[in-house]
Amino acid sequence: MLQVTGINNGIVLDHIKAGNGLKIFNRLINHDIDVPVVLIMNVNSNVLGKKDIIKIEDSFDVNLDVLGLIDENITVNFIVEGKLKEKKKVSVPEVLTGYIKCKNPRCISHFDNYVAPQFTLYDRANLEYVCSFCDEITKYQ
Ligand SMILES: [Zn+2]
Repeated sequence: MLQVTGINNGIVLDHIKAGNGLKIFNRLINHDIDVPVVLIMNVNSNVLGKKDIIKIEDSFDVNLDVLGLIDENITVNFIVEGKLKEKKKVSVPEVLTGYIKCKNPRCISHFDNYVAPQFTLYDRANLEYVCSFCDEITKYQ
């Protein structure tokens, strides 16, 4: 089994389905993270067969809401001074603000200087959200 140096303070995202790690990695990097991030791919897992792991050092400021959209199996481990402080399961968020774009081209949220739309979960299995401005249903992808 591959051994990777543990972290002292930070977040470990475990039980990511193999292949989803890169997707999450790209999303996190896009969100202005400037601390060390390690992506480990295709580790053997008893539960999943193969899994990915992401370690983020010295930061707890990660948008965990969006993780549930990509992979609901993820376990989030908060490490403080080398010890596991808290373990959390992610879930599909009930409300999203500005993270997806309304698919209705005439929706007021597409026009300049308008406030970001809020989307409310409509169909959990299909990741569909209802726009707060126009009631159009948009699927997360
Ligand atoms: Zn809309």
